[in-house]
Amino acid sequence: MPSPAVAGRKFVSFAMVAVVLVWCLIGLDLWIASRQADTGMALWSGDSNPQGLPAWKGLLLVLGIFLTLLVAQAYRQLLSANRQAEARLALQRLIVDHASEAMMLTDSAQRILSVNSAFEQITGYAGQDVFGKTPTMLSAGHQGLASHRNVWDFVAEKGYWEGEIWDRRKDGAIYPKQMRISAICEDGAQISHFVAVFTDISESRAQAERLEYLARHDPLTNLPNRLALDAHLDSILETAVPGINRMAVLIIDLDNFKTINDSLGHHAGDRLLAELARRLGGLMDKTKRLFRLGGDEFVVVIDRLHSEETVIELVDRVARVIGDPCDIDGHVLHSTPSIGISLYPEDGRDAQALIRNADTAMYYAKANGRNNHKFFTEPMNAAANKRLHLESELWSALAENQLVLHYQPQIDLLSGKVVGVEALVRWRHPQRGLIPPAEFIPVAEECGLILPLGHWVLLTACRQVREWLDAGIDMGEMAVNISAHQFRQREFVPSVQAILAETGLPAHRLELEITESTIMHGVDEAIQTFAQLKAMGVKLAIDDFGTGYSSLAYLRRFPLDRLKIDRSFLADVETDPDAASLVTSIVLLGRSLGLQLVAEGVENFAQAEFLRTLECERVQGFHFYQPVCAEEVVGVGRFQEFAALQA
Ligand code: C2E
Ligand code: MG
Ligand code: MG
Repeated sequence: MPSPAVAGRKFVSFAMVAVVLVWCLIGLDLWIASRQADTGMALWSGDSNPQGLPAWKGLLLVLGIFLTLLVAQAYRQLLSANRQAEARLALQRLIVDHASEAMMLTDSAQRILSVNSAFEQITGYAGQDVFGKTPTMLSAGHQGLASHRNVWDFVAEKGYWEGEIWDRRKDGAIYPKQMRISAICEDGAQISHFVAVFTDISESRAQAERLEYLARHDPLTNLPNRLALDAHLDSILETAVPGINRMAVLIIDLDNFKTINDSLGHHAGDRLLAELARRLGGLMDKTKRLFRLGGDEFVVVIDRLHSEETVIELVDRVARVIGDPCDIDGHVLHSTPSIGISLYPEDGRDAQALIRNADTAMYYAKANGRNNHKFFTEPMNAAANKRLHLESELWSALAENQLVLHYQPQIDLLSGKVVGVEALVRWRHPQRGLIPPAEFIPVAEECGLILPLGHWVLLTACRQVREWLDAGIDMGEMAVNISAHQFRQREFVPSVQAILAETGLPAHRLELEITESTIMHGVDEAIQTFAQLKAMGVKLAIDDFGTGYSSLAYLRRFPLDRLKIDRSFLADVETDPDAASLVTSIVLLGRSLGLQLVAEGVENFAQAEFLRTLECERVQGFHFYQPVCAEEVVGVGRFQEFAALQA
C-alpha cells in the first residue's frame, strides 16, 4: 500500500497531466481556429457558427478552468504537506541527534548510510569517516572481528540481534557496548536497511567491577576480605587431594592493637593496620596469599606446601616485619603478632574447619604469653570448650554468690599509715578454689557479664566501707576498678550516685580506677563523665599508667586526682638505671599535672626506698600487704604503723 503522501503526489501528477492535456486541446483548437480564420473559417469568431460556440467546446473550457483550479489547490496542499513532512523529518533528526544512544543506518549490504551525533561521540568517527564502509571497521581487532561478522550474519538471517560486543574507538581504545541491530524490509520481503543502536557500557561495567571489588576487598588495606578468603580456599580445596597436596592457613592477630586503637584513636589504628598490611604484602609470592579478616586479624594461605619449615620461615618474617617500629602521627609503635596455624589435610578438609582451627590455635598463642605462634592440635579444641564452659559457669557464679572481694591496702610512705584500700575481685570456685580476676574478667568483658559483675563489686565495696565507718574503722579511700565497658554505659554515673545514696557513703571515700586506654577511647565523652563524677565528689585515678598511649595534652583536660604507676615499671627500678629514670619521669610528669602518685607492685625494700626519695607518697604492693578478705584487712587498719618500712 503506498503512503498517503505518495498517493497524493501521484494524484497531483495525474491531474497536472490532465490539465496540460485539456489546455493543449484548447490551445490546438485555438490554433486551428486561427488558421481557419485566416482562411475565413474562424472557429471561435462565430461567423461560421451563428449559434455561438459548440457545446463541447464550452464544456472543455469549463473543464479546463475547473481542473486548473483543482490542480492549483491540490498543489498548494501538496506543498504544505511537504513542508510538514520536512519539519517532521527535521524534528526526528533532532531527536536522533540528541539521543544518548548511538544510531547507525546501513543499506542491505551493510554499508553505513547515516549516523547520529552520539555515534560520533562514542566511536570518535565523524559521519564522513564511516559512510560507505561496513560496521566491521569499528571492531576491536582480530577476535572482535570474528564476533562482529557473526553478529551481522545473524541479523541478516534472523532479522534481530541484541547483546554486548567489544569495539575500538578511533583513538584505538577498546570499549564494551550494548547493541541492538534490526533488519528493515521496506517492501516487506527483502532487507533494505539495517539499524543499529548502541550504548557505551564501559562506565557501568567499571562500576559493576568496582562493586564486585568492594564486596571482596577491605577498603582500608585493599586486601581481599573474608569472602575472598572463603572463595580462595574453596577453589584450592576443590582440586586438592589429601596425601598429595598440603596447605597451611595462618591467622595473624596483633597483640596490642586494642590498646593503640583505644589510646590513640581509630585514625592512628587504621594507619597502623594499613602500614602492617603493606609490610605483610611484601612477604607474599605465588604460593602465599594475604587476606584481612577484619579488625586486627590477617590471614595467610600457603598453597602447594612442601614442608612445615616454609610455615616457620614465614612466621619468623611476619614477626619481624610486624615488630619493626612504626611511626604513626609522631608515636613510635611496636607491635607483636600472635599466630595460629592449621594444616590441610590433618587439621581440616574444608575452609571453615581450617579457619576455625587456625583461630583456636591463635587464641592459644595469645593465652601463652602472646608474640608467638602455635600449630593447631586437637587438645586445643578442648581448651576452647573449657573457655565456653567457664563463661556459662561465671553466670551462675554471680547468681550463687561465688564472687568475693579482697582488699589490698595502700600506704603513705612518709607516715607508714594505711590511707586507702583497693577492692580486687576473686572467684571462689567450688571445685577449683580461688580464681584470680585475670582469668575471668576478660571473659566477663567479652560476654557482657562485666556490667552486673562491676555493679556488684561497686555496691559490695561501698557497703564494706560503710560497715567499717559504722564500726569506727577508718581505712581511707576505697579504690574500685571500673572496666571500659562499664565506664562507657550511659547509666554509669547515675548508678554510682544510686550506690552512694543507698549505702550512705560520703563520695570522697570512693575512688574509681579507670585505665588509660579506657579514657583515651572517646576522650570528650570520658571528660564529661569524669566531670560529672568529680562534681559528685568522687575521686578519680588512672590505673596502670604508662602502659597506654595517652597524650599529655589530653591528660590535662581530665579532672584527675591520682596516677597509678603500673607495676611493670617498678620491676627493675633498683637495678636498671633506665627503669629508674622512667619512673622518675612519670613522677615528675604527674606532679607537673598537679596529681598525686600511687606506685603499684612494690615488692621489696629497695623499691620502697627509691620511691621515698622521689617523694612518691602512696605505695601498694606485696612488700607491704597482699590483697586479703575484709576481716583480715581490718587488722591492718588498726595496726596503723607499718613495720615493713623499718625492715
Ligand atoms: P590492678 O587494678 O592493676 O590491680 C593490681 C593488681 O596487682 C592486683 O592483681 C594485685 O593483686 C596485684 N599486685 C599488687 N601488688 C603487687 C605486687 O607487689 N606484685 C605483684 N606481682 N602484683 C601485685 P589482681 O588482684 O590479680 O588483679 C588484676 C587485675 O584485675 C587488676 O589490676 C584489675 O585490672 C583487674 N581487676 C581486679 N578486680 C577487678 C574488678 O573488680 N573490676 C574490674 N573491672 N577489674 C578488676
Ligand atoms: Mg586497679
Ligand atoms: Mg593497676
